[in-house]
Amino acid sequence: MPNKAKATILIVDDENINLEILSAGLSEEHQIVRCSSALDVMPMAQNEQSDLILLDIGMPEMDGYQVCKALKKFDDTRHIPVVFSTAFDSTADEIKGFECGASDYITKPFNMRLVQHRVGNLVTLKRQTDLLEELANLDGLTHIPNRRHFDGAFDAEWRRAVRRKSVISVCMLDIDCFKQFNDHYGHAAGDKCLINIANELYVHIKRPGDVVARYGGEEFVLILPENSSADAELFAEYLRQKVVDLGIKHGYSTCAEVVTMSIGVASTKAGKNMKKEVLLKQADEQLYLAKSKGKNQVAAIDI
Ligand code: GH3
Ligand code: MG
Ligand code: MG
Repeated sequence: MPNKAKATILIVDDENINLEILSAGLSEEHQIVRCSSALDVMPMAQNEQSDLILLDIGMPEMDGYQVCKALKKFDDTRHIPVVFSTAFDSTADEIKGFECGASDYITKPFNMRLVQHRVGNLVTLKRQTDLLEELANLDGLTHIPNRRHFDGAFDAEWRRAVRRKSVISVCMLDIDCFKQFNDHYGHAAGDKCLINIANELYVHIKRPGDVVARYGGEEFVLILPENSSADAELFAEYLRQKVVDLGIKHGYSTCAEVVTMSIGVASTKAGKNMKKEVLLKQADEQLYLAKSKGKNQVAAIDI
């Protein structure tokens, strides 16, 4: 979100004097993190949540072009704008910089006013892009993550689970008899109910990596990485009860006096011999099973 908090600029240069000059010129407007070795850029960019990287080219361990290419290769760093700040001032060098993925190119000796303007403009642009990305991933009604967000997060969590050979669980959640709720209490009340349930699910998702999203209509989806299958089932049961505890009156449900959910859970130890789509399909089948057994319950499978 564009707010008054300062943007974080990672300044990379093997010469201390350059770090000093750039920090002095930019620290009033921005939060500065210094880095004096090309080898530290990647881990620092990943950990410090940089908004922009000012990158020297001539460095002993690895040149700035290579660092920039590496940054642009990975999902978690490719969105960070890179500005080369360098003594290499030929047009060919500058073109090479842009071809490596840089957003801008500034040559030494620095004109600090120019550096401040260029960095300021790129930071504004980065924040607007971040905001658009955030909005594109939020559900318009409930303001929790949407299916687009789920698709990206599931892909990332699945790949992480494959690398770690860890267990990953997916839960499909569907409100019971929601058509009757809408038919009798009206669409506006239905919307309010969806918002309340979304909020309730959202506040109970606290572990890093756990994701809740509105999958569509009155269906929600959870990703629970690094949970045992038993824990995932217990957590689904906990959420089912939390929704019951909201006590949203439903006089026309076939399974309770209040609004309830059925939940299908599928867990697996992620490996290369299975596709993530299969896990999702299995969760959906378990949801169908929970419905057919009378709704307001959890059905789970370990595959
Ligand atoms: P089941 O217990 O088997 O899940 O039955 P159901 O009635 O919940 O499911 P069904 O698929 O028959 O109906 C889903 C209903 O959800 C119908 C649709 O109008 C309602 N719905 C979907 N999206 C929204 C929404 O954004 N707002 C409101 N108010 N209702 C919605
Ligand atoms: Mg339903
Ligand atoms: Mg449904």
